[in-house]
Amino acid sequence: MSRVVVLGAGVSGHTAASFLQKWLGKGDEVVVISPQPTYNWIPSNIWVGVGLMPAAKVQFPLAPIYERHDILFKQARAVAIHPEGSADIDSPFVEIEWTLPARAGERESVRYDFLINATGPKLNFEATPGLGPGKNSLSVCTADHAAETAKVLEEKVERMRRGERQRFLVGTGHGSCTCEGAAFEYVVNLEFELRSRGVRDKADIVFVTNEYELGDFGIDGLFLKRGGYVTPSSVFTESLFVERGLDWITRAHVKQVDPGVAHIETLDGEQREVAFDMAMLLPPFSGVGLKAYDRSGAELTDKVFAPNGFLKVDANYDKKPYEQWSASDWPRTYQSPVYPNLFAPGIAFAPPHAISRPRQTAEGRVISPAPPRTGMPSAMMGKAVARSIADMMSGRSDGPTATASMAETGAACVASAGANPFTGTAASITVYPIVPDFQRFPDTGRDPRYTFGEIGLAGHWIKILLHHMFLYKAKMRPGWAMIPE
Ligand SMILES: Cc1cc2nc3c(=O)[nH]c(=O)nc-3n(C[C@H](O)[C@H](O)[C@H](O)COP(=O)(O)OP(=O)(O)OC[C@H]3O[C@@H](n4cnc5c(N)ncnc54)[C@H](O)[C@@H]3O)c2cc1C
Repeated sequence: MSRVVVLGAGVSGHTAASFLQKWLGKGDEVVVISPQPTYNWIPSNIWVGVGLMPAAKVQFPLAPIYERHDILFKQARAVAIHPEGSADIDSPFVEIEWTLPARAGERESVRYDFLINATGPKLNFEATPGLGPGKNSLSVCTADHAAETAKVLEEKVERMRRGERQRFLVGTGHGSCTCEGAAFEYVVNLEFELRSRGVRDKADIVFVTNEYELGDFGIDGLFLKRGGYVTPSSVFTESLFVERGLDWITRAHVKQVDPGVAHIETLDGEQREVAFDMAMLLPPFSGVGLKAYDRSGAELTDKVFAPNGFLKVDANYDKKPYEQWSASDWPRTYQSPVYPNLFAPGIAFAPPHAISRPRQTAEGRVISPAPPRTGMPSAMMGKAVARSIADMMSGRSDGPTATASMAETGAACVASAGANPFTGTAASITVYPIVPDFQRFPDTGRDPRYTFGEIGLAGHWIKILLHHMFLYKAKMRPGWAMIPE
């Protein structure tokens, strides 16, 4: 019997575990280790954060699903990887600490034949003093954060109903953030909700972002085909903001958040203070802080992980200038170059470099987006890794058989811009490939046939459909594997 251990039950890890359970032989075992008892469909946290959905609608308990499908679930967080075993344990293992209340704090060594690190991001609020829930700003990164944000929004709406003016600050809470798309989605949903509740005239809404221009989205922007002509995503996004009366500050690093005021530095060195009554600012991401040790117990974290805590995989990590970045730098199989039975799909893998052009202030402060690894590619990576491991375990192959490079795959993103069955809208954007490939597509780096965008009511219905479809799939209900990533 062989055992695959999956760390993390998010988009990537849960997808990998589901397909492994389907593809592995009867005697093989799939173990999932994840600290939360629930699965969270994170994209719909946006709707929780504007009060349109309770947190329970975007989460479900994992244990019963895994039990039904013969996947062993340990509610715990991984602490360290021992890819060579140790003096006492003669096989690779991962050290975990239980978070299940009945066993909280208990340590265990879990042996593996193959390990998938799909631990996603650490939400690194500490990078900006005063940033984050419990401090001076709000978030929608987890269902609980989003529920708290909705509660504060409700209180602000009450104030506006009483005639008070309120200022909302939404965006990225640090110069090195990723996930600009999520911040964009929150701000347009917020604006729509304030309008629906009849208080829009009492609200000032400011969007703050580390993007050089709106519509960069951490992928260096894109040229969208729409209605027979091509539009830069900056124009597309600025038009949406102008139509909705949203102000914006680009090229911005949030240095500190004090109660009611954000301290901002921009690329040209300008220092600004922006007052707010409510701020929803996303944190930068880093790896979750796993350590790695060799057989003798010596630490080899630096060999296995990049300095930002993400796991090094089959990417080209040579340092080179933006002009020399290439599509082939991006990983295809997500296999560790050091340990062939170790993989890292989703946000957990270390990207070779950013996708957006890197920029910094005269003092060296980086203010440009880190590369996003959104839901669709994260799920595709998880599935590809599961396929490779299933083939390696069955002896069909010595190495990975499936690939999901972000430079060879596209992504579809439906960004809600207001949730109402009759008056709602969503911006539907497809991009192919995610990482521009100027060798294949010299004009814009992307295939114009598959890179397009549109905004309208149909998009909103697609977004609702996706919410239900992906939750159905994640619950592994009949026919789940036929639903595309
Ligand atoms: C507010 C918001 C809105 C978004 N909207 C969209 C959208 O509309 N479309 C889209 O495509 N993408 C969207 N995204 C991005 C999408 O959520 C991510 O791409 C996706 O979740 C990444 O999957 P992942 O598996 O790598 O990480 P995650 O889904 O974050 O999963 C990581 C898992 O690892 C677990 N974990 C953490 N630490 C440990 C540990 N030490 N040991 C074991 N397990 C651990 C976590 O609990 C979690 O289960 C959004 C993101 C945010 C924050």
